[in-house]
Amino acid sequence: MVFIPECEICGREVERLTKIEIEGSIVEVCDRCVSYGKIVEEPVPRQQPSRSLPKPSDVETELVLVEGYGKKIKEAREKLGLSRKEFASKIGEKEGVVKKVEEEKMEPDEKLARKIEKFLKIKLYEKVPIVSGKKREEKKHELTIGDVVVVRTK
Ligand SMILES: [Zn+2]
Repeated sequence: MVFIPECEICGREVERLTKIEIEGSIVEVCDRCVSYGKIVEEPVPRQQPSRSLPKPSDVETELVLVEGYGKKIKEAREKLGLSRKEFASKIGEKEGVVKKVEEEKMEPDEKLARKIEKFLKIKLYEKVPIVSGKKREEKKHELTIGDVVVVRTK
């Protein structure tokens, strides 16, 4: 059933109706009949714009390396039965780089991390919410009366 709004005064079928007040009662009327009363509500378009709005989320996220990424890489590599050297050559890196990353002495850059993720089928990044208005640790040292240094002029 399609609902077609009709003006309560003239009966005209219209796209939208406006609520007006006539002698204390609310009637929905067409644009032509609004002048019979006092508008109590602005006309609302019947069809909501269908464009999808960006998700209203005030939680921003950032990608960070998972905790224990080195161990994760090492375990996944060993599962595949690869030595560090073999693994390094498979992803086109130096053994030393793999070693450092596995020992978490070096954080892989995104390119390298993605390569490792793809090869070992593991996830090295996780999304964490950015705490809005990060804690301001550094409190501004406000001067109190006692702190005021009197500058003596010679
Ligand atoms: Zn009307």
